[in-house]
Amino acid sequence: MLDPHLLPDNVLTTQLKKVVNWARRSALWPMPFATACCGIELMATASSRYDLARFGAEAMRFSPRQADLMIVAGRVTIKMMPVLQHIYQQMTEPKWVISMGACASTGGVFDAYATIQGIDQFMPVDVYVPGCPPRPETLIEGIMAIQRKIDEEGLPPSGLRRPLQLAVEPSYKPSAQPVPVTIGGQLVR
Ligand code: SF4
Repeated sequence: MLDPHLLPDNVLTTQLKKVVNWARRSALWPMPFATACCGIELMATASSRYDLARFGAEAMRFSPRQADLMIVAGRVTIKMMPVLQHIYQQMTEPKWVISMGACASTGGVFDAYATIQGIDQFMPVDVYVPGCPPRPETLIEGIMAIQRKIDEEGLPPSGLRRPLQLAVEPSYKPSAQPVPVTIGGQLVR
């Protein structure tokens, strides 16, 4: 917060697009479409340990008209796809789509006629998050990839966008779970 005593003598200048895009990237509202185990990692991403709120994207919305970031976490069947497309169409523009995990991006191990072998055959995907399941760090990296793109944009474009089609690489170092706890040099857990 700005110190009110500084305001009479100090002026901050910036560009309108920077302020608008700062607000846009700091307030992504996800629409979770979680159908399987990847959904549990999505929940973990919003929990206190990973704290998605640090990136302004923790306000999950289950009404598509209040959401601008669809996260598809898990496998999607042919019967589900019309519903998923309907939800996507109802979301506000500009909007983004993250395909989270192998199943959403490729069908994963479910090479069956009833499972969609990649949701990008039916809807525009902006970021592919790899893994089975992806760790929360990787999903956060995918959200940050969208934030970086928003920062680079001008004012929000009108009309429909082309999908970004970015692929995220895992950038974390796995550590032992649970984390060992020592007290006075003694390992207690
Ligand atoms: S990618 Fe792996 S963890 Fe995610 S929904 Fe498919 S099987 Fe489950």
